[in-house]
Amino acid sequence: MAAKPNPQPADSPEVRRYNRLQRWLSMADTVIGFALLVVLLVTGWTGKLRDWSYLGSRQNYFLAVFLYVLMFSVIAKVLSAPFDFVGFRLEHQYHLSNQKLRSWLWDECKGWLVNLVLGTIMVELVYGIIRVAPQRWWIVAWAVFVGLFLLMAQLAPVVLMPIFYKFKPLENETLRERLTRLGERAGTRVRGVYEWKLSEKSKKANAALTGMGSTRRIILSDTLLEHYSDDEIEAILAHELGHHVRKHIMKSILLQVGITFVGFWLVNLVLRFVIVRNWFPVLSSRLYDFANLPLIVLVVTVLGFLLMPALNAISRHHEREADRYAWENIAVIGPFVTAMQKLAEQNLAEREPSKFVEWFFHSHPSIGKRIAAAESWASQHQPVEIQPVT
Ligand SMILES: [Zn+2]
Repeated sequence: MAAKPNPQPADSPEVRRYNRLQRWLSMADTVIGFALLVVLLVTGWTGKLRDWSYLGSRQNYFLAVFLYVLMFSVIAKVLSAPFDFVGFRLEHQYHLSNQKLRSWLWDECKGWLVNLVLGTIMVELVYGIIRVAPQRWWIVAWAVFVGLFLLMAQLAPVVLMPIFYKFKPLENETLRERLTRLGERAGTRVRGVYEWKLSEKSKKANAALTGMGSTRRIILSDTLLEHYSDDEIEAILAHELGHHVRKHIMKSILLQVGITFVGFWLVNLVLRFVIVRNWFPVLSSRLYDFANLPLIVLVVTVLGFLLMPALNAISRHHEREADRYAWENIAVIGPFVTAMQKLAEQNLAEREPSKFVEWFFHSHPSIGKRIAAAESWASQHQPVEIQPVT
C-alpha cells in the first residue's frame, strides 16, 4: 500500500507578503544598478569619472583604473544602500534576524571592501589584457578568469566566508559518525563538517557544501543544529553529500566557464559595435578606454538576467538529484520530510510559490514539491511500516 502523503499547510498571508517584498526589493536593486550604468553612458558622466581618475593618478593607467573602480563602487553603494537598509529592516519586522544595526553596518562595510578588492582585480586584469592583446583579449581574459574561478572556489570557505561568519569543526560525535558512515557507503570522504555561527546574524537555518579539493566541506548553521533532531540533520547531511557525490560544484564551475566564454565574446562584439557606431561619443575608439566599463558591466548584467531562469533550472535539477541521493541513503524519509517542514517554517519560505516565481527566481524546488517528491519516491521504494495487529 502506498503511503498516504501528509497534507501540507498552505502558505500564510504573512509568508507570501515577506517573500513578495523580498523579490520586489531585489528587483528594485537590480533596476537601480541597471539605470546607473545607462545613465553613466548616456550622459557621458563615465567620461568625467575617467578624466578625474587620470588626474588623480597623474596619468598612471593602472592607478587610474583603480580610482575609476573606486568611484564607481562608491556611487553604486550609495544608490543601493537604501534598499540594503530596507532589507535589514524587513528581516527584523518578520522576526528573522537579531543582528544589531552596528554589526550590520560593519558587515556592509566589509562586503563593500571585499567587492572592491575582487572587482579591482578583475577590472585591472581585463584592461591589462586588452592593452597587451587588443585583438584576442577576450579569449586570454576568459582563460585567466577560469583560473580565478577555481582559485575562488577553493578559497571561499577558508578566506571569504570567515570574513562574515565564524566556523568551527562540528563537535557532535554522533553526527560525525553518521556522516562518516554515509560517506563510507558512498565510497567517498568529505574532509570536514563545520558548525556555521549563523545565529549571530539570523534566525534562519541553512546548510551547504562548499570549497574544492582540500577545502571541500559541509557547513551546518548552528540554528539548524540547535532545533533539529539527529535524524533530521542526518537527512540534510545526506543531501549535502549528494551534491558532493554528484560533483555539483565542479559542474557549476564548468557551466560558469562556458557562460564566461560566451560573455567575453559578446562583450568584445558589443564594445566594437558600439564604438564603430559611435553610440556614446564619450567613449574613445580605443578598447582600453576604461570609460567603457559601464558598457561591459551592462552586457554582463543583461546576459546574467536572461540566463537566470536557465541557471536556476539547472540548480533545481541538482537539488532534486541531491534530494534523491539523500532518500536512498537514509533509513526512512520521515526525518527528511519533517526537516523540510521545519526549514519552511523557520525561514518563512513559500511552500508553494507561483509557477512563474519558482521558474524565474528559485534555485531550489519549492518545499511543497520536495516533500511531495520524497513521499512519492518512498511509496515506491520504501516498505511501509506494518501496524502490529493486537
Ligand atoms: Zn542542496
